[in-house]
Amino acid sequence: NTLISLKKIAKVYRSQNVETYALKNIDLEVHQGDYICISGPSGGGKSTLLSLLGLLDSPSSGQYFIKGIDTSSLDMDKQAELRNLHIGFIFQSFNLIDELSVFDNVALPLTYREPAMSQSAIDNAVKKALAEVEMGHRAQHKPNQLSGGQQQRIAIARALAGNPSILLVDEPTGNLDSKNGDAVMDLLDALNQKGTTICMVTHDLRYAGRAKTQLKLLDGEIIAYSKARDTASVAE
Ligand code: ADP
Ligand code: ADP
Repeated sequence: NTLISLKKIAKVYRSQNVETYALKNIDLEVHQGDYICISGPSGGGKSTLLSLLGLLDSPSSGQYFIKGIDTSSLDMDKQAELRNLHIGFIFQSFNLIDELSVFDNVALPLTYREPAMSQSAIDNAVKKALAEVEMGHRAQHKPNQLSGGQQQRIAIARALAGNPSILLVDEPTGNLDSKNGDAVMDLLDALNQKGTTICMVTHDLRYAGRAKTQLKLLDGEIIAYSKARDTASVAE
């Protein structure tokens, strides 16, 4: 049930004569159902790792496999196709489009699917995703008619609608008060319990501990990795 496998990944940024290793020697396996929290100080490489996992950027060296497919040999179009198929993104800033209704925001990524989805398949997927975040009654609202917590739930619905293999989540509570932050984290926990694979970056120690796997990055390297025992498989 290996979903993603990173082998000896490095990412180096070069400007003028300066080389910055944002990531070095990263080996990581993500399995279906994992709930990973990436933490560590600013500049540690968290954003870089998340954008590589999301196929938004390519490593300088090493290999990235998703569902057994070696992504390094693929062109940009093929990578975008894999991204659309497998990855759901959730950002701190929601990234909803103000001019579009909630429904159309959630539908938008589905309209880029290859092969194209039928309108009725899109409608069904959007309704199901909005129901999952309990926002079906807001389908015709515009994002700016909703609270921050509600907007983040719409963003989660947008990520879920494509039935992704993994949710990549960047500081999901960064723009929320603690009540709405708690509600969004409760929702992510519930999704993971139902089987959704999650990889999340958060600074918020109140929430980091909820993830089953803790990964700490410092200066581009994994300095700590711990995976809680799966209670379901503890036999003794
Ligand atoms: P974090 O998300 O943990 O704060 P980042 O992944 O953003 O860390 O950055 C890791 C390192 O890579 C930092 O030293 C940062 O300055 C550098 N870096 C990130 N993006 C770029 C870029 N586009 N150009 C040059 N250096 C970058
Ligand atoms: P919740 O805690 O359920 O996320 P709030 O208690 O913050 O929601 O808001 C209650 C209602 O007020 C929401 O259903 C939303 O429609 C409306 N609302 C909240 N914040 C805003 C806002 N910034 N702009 C417009 N409407 C808002």
